[in-house]
Amino acid sequence: MALRLRSALDMLENNNVGSLFQNYPMKINLRVWRQASAKERGDFANYTVENIQPDLSFLEVLDILNEQLIAEGGLPVEFDHDCREGICGSCGMMVNGQAHGSQQRTAVCQLYMRHFQEGDTVTLEPWRAKAFPVIKDLVVDRSALDRISAAGGYISVKTGAAPEANAVLVAKPNADKAFDYATCIGCGACVAACPNASASLFTAAKISHLALLEQGKPERQQRVVKMTQQMTAEGFGDCSNHGECQSVCPKGISINAIAQMRREYIRAKLPFG
Ligand code: SF4
Repeated sequence: MALRLRSALDMLENNNVGSLFQNYPMKINLRVWRQASAKERGDFANYTVENIQPDLSFLEVLDILNEQLIAEGGLPVEFDHDCREGICGSCGMMVNGQAHGSQQRTAVCQLYMRHFQEGDTVTLEPWRAKAFPVIKDLVVDRSALDRISAAGGYISVKTGAAPEANAVLVAKPNADKAFDYATCIGCGACVAACPNASASLFTAAKISHLALLEQGKPERQQRVVKMTQQMTAEGFGDCSNHGECQSVCPKGISINAIAQMRREYIRAKLPFG
């Protein structure tokens, strides 16, 4: 009952009034990208999944599809997932051409079926970017993001045991911004949505988060240089201010982070920086 009420409130909040009158369970058609490996060509395959309840997440619909496929002797659709709570960054795919689907600030694991209608056809594709080669079906290799982090997304100062929270003073606006940037879950949606396949929002979130905190200051200049160099070396494009990244980011990270990254870079390159 509580779930139904939450669904109804959610539908009203999203101006999805039509779904209030939707009869459940419903049927959904899926057009899914199937690709056996990075070396083989892929193509779309069509499936139908029935008996869908409004509070199922999109990944749960894929679970049902996979049970169907296995029962029929077929191969299940590969897709990344882990926490299913929107915090691990494992899941991610294009849903009808939008990274993580149509709901703002929502990872695909928390995209619920109440946002769809009976008989809808939903197209699922992997992240498309040169730096994210397809491994299989909807799974791509996002290790390029790990290598950007490894290039400088850390601090090497000894902080000792868990310090008293107030021992290092951080101005409230900086603490708030650093926290917002630190919420990046590394999902890669920003790359998939960007026309340049840029990883600028991801990289900037890490750089800006650490630049705003005292603990991040010792490596501040080398960090921005190394991480942006690694971003380019991985084959990501540059930012040209489209803003698509911020609109699909499930954590709502602002492109202000990219402006801060640019300032950090200029500062690092100035002789008196
Ligand atoms: S900045 Fe946002 S969209 Fe990009 S990787 Fe981080 S959480 Fe995902």
